[in-house]
Amino acid sequence: MNKTKAYAAQSASQPLAPFELNRRDPRENDVQIEIQFCGVCHSDIHQARNEWGGSTFPMVPGHEIVGVVKSVGSQVKKFKLGDRVGVGCFVDSCRVCTSCMEGLEQYCTDGMIGTYNSTENDGSPTYGGYSSQIVVDAKYVLHIPESIPMDAAAPLLCAGITTYSPLMHWKAGPGKKVAVIGLGGLGHMAVKIAHAMGAEVTVLSQSLKKESDGKRLGADHFFATSDPSTFTKLAGTFDLILNSVSASVDVNAYLNLLKRDGSMVLLGVPDKPAEVGAFGLIGGRRSLAGSLIGGIKETQEMLDFCAKHGIASDIELIPIQKINEAYERMIKGDVRYRFVIDLKSLPLG
Ligand code: NAP
Ligand code: ZN
Ligand code: ZN
Repeated sequence: MNKTKAYAAQSASQPLAPFELNRRDPRENDVQIEIQFCGVCHSDIHQARNEWGGSTFPMVPGHEIVGVVKSVGSQVKKFKLGDRVGVGCFVDSCRVCTSCMEGLEQYCTDGMIGTYNSTENDGSPTYGGYSSQIVVDAKYVLHIPESIPMDAAAPLLCAGITTYSPLMHWKAGPGKKVAVIGLGGLGHMAVKIAHAMGAEVTVLSQSLKKESDGKRLGADHFFATSDPSTFTKLAGTFDLILNSVSASVDVNAYLNLLKRDGSMVLLGVPDKPAEVGAFGLIGGRRSLAGSLIGGIKETQEMLDFCAKHGIASDIELIPIQKINEAYERMIKGDVRYRFVIDLKSLPLG
């Protein structure tokens, strides 16, 4: 067993605080990773505060993990000591269902094993990346391209793949008009990636406060959703809308911004279900869909795409001691555009 320093929530109503856990000794197919940086996703907040229900405690959040390989099991061929690696939202899956066989492990029919707030096949709880090290089966570990700085690479493991996957699936590219609702962690990656794919990108943010950032990140247009005229001006405009908002919004108002045959994809997971009127859909043969992160193969493809296009996350590096403050700031939309924890700040000993 490997003693590991971490930060954990002991219950849904308590702030995160120092915690110690044991990682398993690496098995023959495992990679032991010294964690350098971990991104802070809004899903960490939803789960640490049990907003989706079913959270288990103590919880060590964190699924945007990057670090270096510290040791490998005897059967590991893909990685060696010192390699720059990443771990995203899941650390295992059944490996035999059609989704797993097609490299879409996130849709595993048995349920993927989450990086935290989940249970390993041997019954032990999983603990995430707000910690000094992690041991993961090599099949679920990614290579981080040399050209991407490690701290700015961390958010690609969730925010990057969660936006890349639907942009690929719904074929964002030249001639396509893509809107992104919410310019946070997911939203800013969606803007960068959709722009690199050649789509015409519009940001729909609550106010115009982030307009110059949005344009710098690659948006062609920027509108405030607090201005009712946005919804009349942009009616029938978009081929694809990615909704990255962490809170409930009026889905019907946004469906009306789609062209005939356009799709709106839900990425955000607010605690309350959305109410959807049929007219917004039938009136333009529109689709309302959802998308969950991405598989291992596509995550590696996304990392290589980001390296090729010089894309990484815009981050604010924090010591782990500031994690509770960072959560509060994210809830207020005050993040530009992803908090990343520097794990060097974990107390030693
Ligand atoms: P984030 O960094 O906090 O960004 C969310 C953004 O939504 C905010 O920056 C803000 O943008 C906007 N927003 C926040 N509150 C709002 C409100 N009340 N009304 C309208 N807009 C609001 O969060 P994130 O990490 O990107 O995650 C976003 C959501 O995606 C979360 O629910 C998370 O759990 C979910 N998620 C889903 C997947 C998946 O696989 N589908 C993966 C990761 C995360 P503006 O200031 O620009 O308005
Ligand atoms: Zn996430
Ligand atoms: Zn499976």
